[in-house]
Amino acid sequence: MTHRLLIATHNRKKLAELARILTPLLPDLKVLDLDDVPAYAEPAETELTFEGNASIKARAAVAHTGLPAVADDSGLCVDALNAMPGVLSARWSGRAKDDRRNLELVLDQLADVPKERRGASFVACMVLVLPDGREFAVEGRLAGRIAYEAKGDGGFGYDPIFVPEGETRTFAEMSPEEKDAVSHRGRALRQLAPIAAAALAGQPAER
Ligand code: IMP
Repeated sequence: MTHRLLIATHNRKKLAELARILTPLLPDLKVLDLDDVPAYAEPAETELTFEGNASIKARAAVAHTGLPAVADDSGLCVDALNAMPGVLSARWSGRAKDDRRNLELVLDQLADVPKERRGASFVACMVLVLPDGREFAVEGRLAGRIAYEAKGDGGFGYDPIFVPEGETRTFAEMSPEEKDAVSHRGRALRQLAPIAAAALAGQPAER
């Protein structure tokens, strides 16, 4: 008997991280992504919190597929910007969701901010929704600082300008394994995995 769990994200880079971290944590589950199910329209992220938007995405996935689904809403909270871009991280420079323009805008906005005031955190909220309507939410955070210039080719989004605490390299200069070990997403998924395993154990499974 195999339980299926759908990762509900249209962001390919985020999906790669979620699948990479979650699959070994839940070896008895069949992890699916949105390419494995009939296409449906991406819901608008209208909430003001990470948890609210993750819930919208997970609930939309369950409503369209009938499968248990997990969604991630995440972003960069910059101290000198009053915790923005926050839930607006993907669209910080406009609706186009352009990662390079977004990070360049943050660098411009912090141009005159000295090192000791360049603190920032990555936040990831994961919401699991089951077909019976039960919902579970966890949050992972990682503190760090904003670099003076973009460095590295790895990762996605703001990774080239985020230096995790205790590091001198940006996330984009670290290997995927190094990022996953400390990242907001890794921290959230390591909390969610046992919750998902226990919740799905009581659900109908496929033979
Ligand atoms: P969401 O799809 O609304 O959750 O968008 C999250 C946005 O936050 C992404 O488009 C990235 O810009 C940013 N973000 C979230 N997690 C990360 C990360 O691990 N690295 C770099 N940027 C991230």
